[in-house]
Amino acid sequence: MTHPLFDISGRTALVTGSSRGIGLALARGLAEAGCTVVLNGRDGDRLAKAAAGLPGGRVHTAVFDVTDGASVAAGIADVEERVGPLDILVNNAGMQLRAPLLEFAESDWHRILDTNLTSAFLVGREAARRMTERGHGKIVNICSLQSEVVRPGIAPYAATKGALKMLTKGMCGDWGPSGVQVNGLGPGYIETELTRPLVEDEEFSAWVRRRTPAGRWGRTEDLVGGLLFLASPAADFVGGQILYVDGGMTSVL
Ligand code: NDP
Repeated sequence: MTHPLFDISGRTALVTGSSRGIGLALARGLAEAGCTVVLNGRDGDRLAKAAAGLPGGRVHTAVFDVTDGASVAAGIADVEERVGPLDILVNNAGMQLRAPLLEFAESDWHRILDTNLTSAFLVGREAARRMTERGHGKIVNICSLQSEVVRPGIAPYAATKGALKMLTKGMCGDWGPSGVQVNGLGPGYIETELTRPLVEDEEFSAWVRRRTPAGRWGRTEDLVGGLLFLASPAADFVGGQILYVDGGMTSVL
């Protein structure tokens, strides 16, 4: 039996960027916990395939680009009309671009900022307009180990994730008084498409295992427990915090 503090069954959750990787695993976890889940991404076919693999009959898809304000506004309005009021939003959509700063193109700078940071503002604001009116809601922003530390070659990514950490705290301050709780989840090195080049780089991969107290790369399923906690009543008095799920790496780097 689920302890009532962790019971989120019957809630409706939107996970951005959930056609694969971490977002899909988080959506699966929410579905397994009894939530109605809305998957999001930019490709309808990919989303439909992802949705077909999830348990339960309460899985929906919403195709919109999280970097485009008009698409986000239309997308959230459509989700609430079709599926129902959102109780939980997970701002997960993101990307990585690796290059030394001197070689980093201006267009890439804007692209990574839009995808990793502006998206959380746009989707968060659109969801929070409704959640604050209803007086409740839970928002979890997917931050990163790189919200705290940065390695050479990923400064723009770390800048977006560091800023997302502060946006999380600011959202908590602005929306908390209206009953909307905002926290962050900070994954360490997790095996997904985004990290494929690093996983395939044997030297780097071994460095990750060596520097992680848990001694291994993270799996997408490792993040589910933290999300379920932050989305549940058990975390009702937790606000503006980043829960790092990184095998301990942030503590020792
Ligand atoms: P993936 O590249 O595997 O997945 C990214 C997801 O985001 C896809 O579903 C993609 O869908 C979606 N997406 C990208 N851009 C947009 C957009 N403009 N609009 C809507 N959806 C979009 O990444 P991960 O699963 O590895 O990462 C997920 C999150 O976790 C990111 O925020 C990432 O920064 C963060 N993170 C990842 C870590 C890791 O080690 N993997 C570590 C720390 C943080 P589609 O292309 O179909 O639109």
